[in-house]
Amino acid sequence: CGIVGYTGVMETAPILIEGLSRLEYRGYDSAGIAVVSPGNGGPAIEIIKARGRLQALREMTDNGRAVRGTCGIGHTRWATHGEPSVVNAHPHFSKDKKIAVVHNGIIENYKDLKEWLGKKGFEFISETDTEVVAHLLDYYYKGNPLEAICKMLGRVRGSYALGILFQDFPDKIYAVRKDSPLIIGTSDQGNFIASDVPAILKYTKTVCYVDDMDIVELSTDHIRFFNTDQEEIQKEFKTVQWDA
Ligand code: GLU
Repeated sequence: CGIVGYTGVMETAPILIEGLSRLEYRGYDSAGIAVVSPGNGGPAIEIIKARGRLQALREMTDNGRAVRGTCGIGHTRWATHGEPSVVNAHPHFSKDKKIAVVHNGIIENYKDLKEWLGKKGFEFISETDTEVVAHLLDYYYKGNPLEAICKMLGRVRGSYALGILFQDFPDKIYAVRKDSPLIIGTSDQGNFIASDVPAILKYTKTVCYVDDMDIVELSTDHIRFFNTDQEEIQKEFKTVQWDA
């Protein structure tokens, strides 16, 4: 249960893996990353996941160096719903692979949502509670990520810190939390999300503690905060006195 995300001028995968390693103390049974790769046919989200230690993910990706792209999210999972496995590891995709989600927490009403989404034709490939979030976002997404996120939030109960990628917005990360930890970091080189400060200390000490139900939009050079009425709100960053 650790989340890291980075969008900026540097390659994201090595930063995600390094950041996840700083969250190892939180405990986990599997790990994964989603990166928006530039690609010839236009940007596409690539997901790489592994069961067990972060070392497995390091080996699969040459410490992240084998994965190209400057915007991505990463996750270490502590399974609550569904056994530790590659399929159940995060990130989770929407059916067309245009939305990717990492989640820390528990979606309490996932069974009801799964049944409802099933009737709408959504197929589930994992046993996690998290997968309903990817499908709900897909269901509500009509071109405006913020709108889809607000509608999804209206349906889920429980605790969550979420990091979300939309293929249509290849340099952006969206994030929101309720009763699970999430911070935002900013630097000249790009912007970060993380479960905790140590994950990003190597890159910045300028952070913002996200409040419950704040929705955050990060791109290479800006960070915007919204409430669940989709109104922009102002938040303060501060400098933390931690040692890297
Ligand atoms: N409940 C989710 C799962 O079991 C997330 C667990 C976590 O916080 O790592 O997949």
